[in-house]
Amino acid sequence: MSDQAFCKMCSQPIRFEFTRSGKQIALDYSSDQDHGTFVLNVERSPQGEYRRIAIALSKAERVQAVEEGELLFLAHRLSCANEREGTPIPPDLREKAQSVISDAKGFWNGNR
Ligand SMILES: [Zn+2]
Repeated sequence: MSDQAFCKMCSQPIRFEFTRSGKQIALDYSSDQDHGTFVLNVERSPQGEYRRIAIALSKAERVQAVEEGELLFLAHRLSCANEREGTPIPPDLREKAQSVISDAKGFWNGNR
């Protein structure tokens, strides 16, 4: 398998898989039995080609899949470190962070 890729946002290893509807989805490269909601399955397309697709499972289906030893994968957008950090910072926190940064700059710029 050479379909490993890296997320442009957080540079974690991911895999691109197709869903049944033909959309591409980024999944974490490693399986995650606790949080994953997709299984990878090989199916035969109407054109007679075999292809691997990602199938979203319901909660009950996930329990069944884990019992059967199937690997579950998490959609990368749910684990992407960058997306998580991308949530807006409250203004007062931002101000505080900036004053800490400028204090640190003053320190490094000479007041030693
Ligand atoms: Zn990412």
